[in-house]
Amino acid sequence: MDRFLFRTYAVSSEDLEKIRKFKEDRKKKIEDPFRTLNILKDEFGRYKKGQFKLPPPKVPSYSEYVVIGGGIMGSSVAYSLKNRAPDSFEVMVIERDPKYTRASTTLSVGGIRQQYSLEENIKLSMYSAEFLRNVKQHLSVLDDDPPDIQFQPQGYLFLATEAGEEQMLKNHKLQTGLGAKVRTYEAQSIKEKISLDEY
Ligand SMILES: Cc1cc2nc3c(=O)[nH]c(=O)nc-3n(C[C@H](O)[C@H](O)[C@H](O)COP(=O)(O)OP(=O)(O)OC[C@H]3O[C@@H](n4cnc5c(N)ncnc54)[C@H](O)[C@@H]3O)c2cc1C
Repeated sequence: MDRFLFRTYAVSSEDLEKIRKFKEDRKKKIEDPFRTLNILKDEFGRYKKGQFKLPPPKVPSYSEYVVIGGGIMGSSVAYSLKNRAPDSFEVMVIERDPKYTRASTTLSVGGIRQQYSLEENIKLSMYSAEFLRNVKQHLSVLDDDPPDIQFQPQGYLFLATEAGEEQMLKNHKLQTGLGAKVRTYEAQSIKEKISLDEY
């Protein structure tokens, strides 16, 4: 008996009457096939008399620029557009999953590297690295705490076989020519710096 907790409620005859009336009303509502129509008719009548105001739409019906998808690409495009001319036009981002449960952006590892072989990719990454390092300055909103993205610069290590050495040195020349902070090491000095047995 100790394991059970009993709770009793006192129900007055007044309460019983309320319950009976509630059940009766509900039954009437279900039985009335024109209920929705009558409600709409009533509301439309009030709207025409100016007594009823439609709630403001949640999504603006117009925007000069509409970006579909608010992952890193969409958000970045919207941010850059607004940043260039904050008061000149409206930008709207439409995202179907506001919690970003299935976006690559939130599922990614989040590593940034500048060791690419294409100039465009190197420049994009250099820009992103600078942006993320100074994210508090770029994304702070008035009267709110600056965002903390927990950016942890670590570095990327790429290893090349002898066959891949020439390509890697060519890429390195392009990368450093564009200002990327990338260094090359000989195999021996890598061994001295990092114990690859740990990985
Ligand atoms: C496991 C994993 C690890 C990764 N690791 C790295 C890494 O370490 N470094 C790196 O640089 N890159 C990494 N990537 C790649 C990187 O995450 C993606 O290239 C990048 O996030 C793509 O961004 P996106 O905005 O194009 O796409 P998403 O982040 O997927 O955003 C697209 C958004 O569009 C929305 N959307 C789609 N269709 C509609 C629609 N019709 N209406 C409204 N909204 C819509 C989606 O809901 C989604 O939020 C990784 C990716 C994965 C999956």
